Amino acid sequence: MTIQQAIIVGGGISGLSLAWFLKAAGVAVTLLEKEQRTGGVIRTSLAGGFLVEHGPNSTLHKPGDATDALGRLMGSLNLEPQVANASASRRYVQKSGQLWPLPGSPGDFLQTPLFSMAAKLRLLLEPFRAKAENEESVGAFVTRRLGAEFLHWAVDPFISGVYAGDPQRLSIRAAVPKIYALESRYGSMLRGAMALRKQGRVTGMPKGRLISFDGGMERLTAVLRARLNEGPNPVRVVTEGEVNRIVALDAGKWQVEGGKGLKILGDVVILAVPAFAAAKLLRPLSGVVCEQLEGIHHAPVVSMALGFDRRQVAHPLDGFGFLIPCLEGLELLGCLFSTTLFPGRSGKDQCMLTAFIGGTRHPTVVHRGDTELVDVAMGGLRKALGIHGDPGFIKITRYERAIAQYELGHLQRLERMQQALAPWPGLHLCGNFTGGVSVADRVFNSERLAQQLGQSPWGVCKE
Ligand SMILES: Cc1cc2nc3c(=O)[nH]c(=O)nc-3n(C[C@H](O)[C@H](O)[C@H](O)COP(=O)(O)OP(=O)(O)OC[C@H]3O[C@@H](n4cnc5c(N)ncnc54)[C@H](O)[C@@H]3O)c2cc1C
Repeated sequence: MTIQQAIIVGGGISGLSLAWFLKAAGVAVTLLEKEQRTGGVIRTSLAGGFLVEHGPNSTLHKPGDATDALGRLMGSLNLEPQVANASASRRYVQKSGQLWPLPGSPGDFLQTPLFSMAAKLRLLLEPFRAKAENEESVGAFVTRRLGAEFLHWAVDPFISGVYAGDPQRLSIRAAVPKIYALESRYGSMLRGAMALRKQGRVTGMPKGRLISFDGGMERLTAVLRARLNEGPNPVRVVTEGEVNRIVALDAGKWQVEGGKGLKILGDVVILAVPAFAAAKLLRPLSGVVCEQLEGIHHAPVVSMALGFDRRQVAHPLDGFGFLIPCLEGLELLGCLFSTTLFPGRSGKDQCMLTAFIGGTRHPTVVHRGDTELVDVAMGGLRKALGIHGDPGFIKITRYERAIAQYELGHLQRLERMQQALAPWPGLHLCGNFTGGVSVADRVFNSERLAQQLGQSPWGVCKE
């Protein structure tokens, strides 16, 4: 049996890249997106001479890695990435109101004031720490292996940067599987990191690099969308095509229904939408799956682009940006030095900072008015970066439910869903609550699902 018609619901990077991989395999695909535009949270705009990213500003690309589906996607689209400025490897962390670079070498590590001498010496004991018996939070794992100071001044801000989340609630195994794997595979984070570094030197595998595109992140989804329509086997993309009902028909067929009389028949349906949107669609089909999906929390986030005359900002802005640990007691999570990261993002004498506010620890911030939000951002940035005067340009984007949280029990939750979905092998979930939240993770996850569909009882119909 071959797939005659695959229906993808959701036109963010998950849905678009899945459509691309299925198209390449010769499957007929219809993609339904509720908004007027595709791209989902990947959105770039030009305003006031600034290139503004409303969602992701960059993603980590690991050329040559087995998981490098993003590289394969860019290659097949003939799309050249824009690689971040070399100084982007410098990341600052705020401690007591001051910015300190995260140490990049053993020498820097010994000198950094981010950690006390006792915390630095404790690191030597890390290889001798026993493994935990049960699933742990990121906070518990890091405290056990490295000590509380590493949690507060390194890992907590990192978790803020990726998930806008709380390390005490996120599962180490689900949220940071690569770190978890260092312990499970090598017995120690330090031993594991050294082994991987050695492996990298032997295989000559290039290091990961931060990338975007000329014209911003939306270039990726815009080119992808355009190419879906080209060549043999074009994908049918329906925008303003909100799906509100999915009906299981006889013989494993599906009917997907939406507004304006939308009705499409298919033999595979893939939901490439956030967990809360998938829950709504699956409620009539399976109470268990719906309940599990509803239990996945999303961090609320405000992204704020702030443009300045370069002379207003005293800091050299020589890095990726800075992150603010929870112990600093601010609602501002951190800020990217956007005009340092990639060229051509502002006029010559200007600079742009992208501030992130809120996260799971400050759930109500997203509902505040613009003036209050600018006060929150500028309150944190002014002192840290030596800013005088006000920003000449401001663009605020609010997300009530931005980033899926892989909390304790997340993997068991996914497992329960998988079991409950067993009676419907033609129904798949491909939102950012499974397989990682980054843009690169999303593309890899879609590539893997397209391959799985190829090996499923349906097979993938090759032309
Ligand atoms: C503010 C922010 C900053 C981020 N920063 C980074 C970063 O720097 N680097 C990085 O790698 N990642 C980052 N991420 C994460 C990453 O961008 C997302 O995880 C990823 O883009 C999600 O893609 P997606 O396609 O799964 O979901 P989405 O982009 O949410 O797309 C889902 C789509 O489904 C549509 N939809 C929903 N319901 C329906 C329905 N019923 N019918 C039809 N369509 C529907 C929606 O309209 C949407 O277009 C960031 C995310 C946010 C929000």
